[in-house]
Amino acid sequence: MYKKIILLLIFTIFIFCGCSKPQKEPVVNTLDDITKRGEVIIGIKTDTYPFGFKDKNGKYTGYDIDLANMIGQEIFQEKGKVKFVPVTASDRMMKLFSEDVDMIVATMSVTPTRLQIMDFSDPYYIAGQAVLVKKGSKIKGLRDLNGKKAIIVFGTSSESSLRAAVPRVSIIGYKTYNEAVKALKQGKADAIVSDDTILIGLSLKDANLVLLPKRYSREPYAVAFRKGQESEDLVRIVNNVINESVRNGTLQKLQKNYGIKKY
Ligand code: GLU
Repeated sequence: MYKKIILLLIFTIFIFCGCSKPQKEPVVNTLDDITKRGEVIIGIKTDTYPFGFKDKNGKYTGYDIDLANMIGQEIFQEKGKVKFVPVTASDRMMKLFSEDVDMIVATMSVTPTRLQIMDFSDPYYIAGQAVLVKKGSKIKGLRDLNGKKAIIVFGTSSESSLRAAVPRVSIIGYKTYNEAVKALKQGKADAIVSDDTILIGLSLKDANLVLLPKRYSREPYAVAFRKGQESEDLVRIVNNVINESVRNGTLQKLQKNYGIKKY
């Protein structure tokens, strides 16, 4: 009799706990979500010539946009399946973590800090940090910025490396490169510190801006994903695209077309 009561009790507990069957957490796989949705959502820059910008017809274009299109083509074996979402250096991580985008192709460097919270593809370009000044400036290199004011764009790797390299610099941050250039030209600071690739683009558009020749870091650009198992399949596909287009010369050709010189 006692045995029966105990068995009944155990059974009741199982039913009420909902533990009659072990519940398995469904495995999230971003690639499955993308194929079900029928398009891949990719975060790209629009203020970073020649990596991500709008052409005169308002169409997103640039080296990162071409790479994003190649990724879409590889996933769907079809063109035109990419939805572009504009991101800035300061909001790109937030847009990735909040699942507004599936991945970011946005001049993003792999850094030890970022590797702790995100996954990255293999690098698809190597940039280096440099200094942009107004024509005629007395600043000839990074060290000259000690005791002076320098502009960075929020959320970039130069934000942390500049402070480490030039301890007495005053740093002023802006959200976009357009705002940064405007501030430099208005004399609010002595220089902008960022990647050479981005600064070259800015200096090409304005004869009053000069890019100094020295590079101060190695910035491997890679596609960024949410960290973990959910991104594994996606990372594999993107790495295939990158490695195959290095092998067949597509990426080198794009670099030439956009006038991007390898560092
Ligand atoms: N590559 C640098 C970074 O990842 C700067 C790029 C940018 O401004 O987007 O922080």
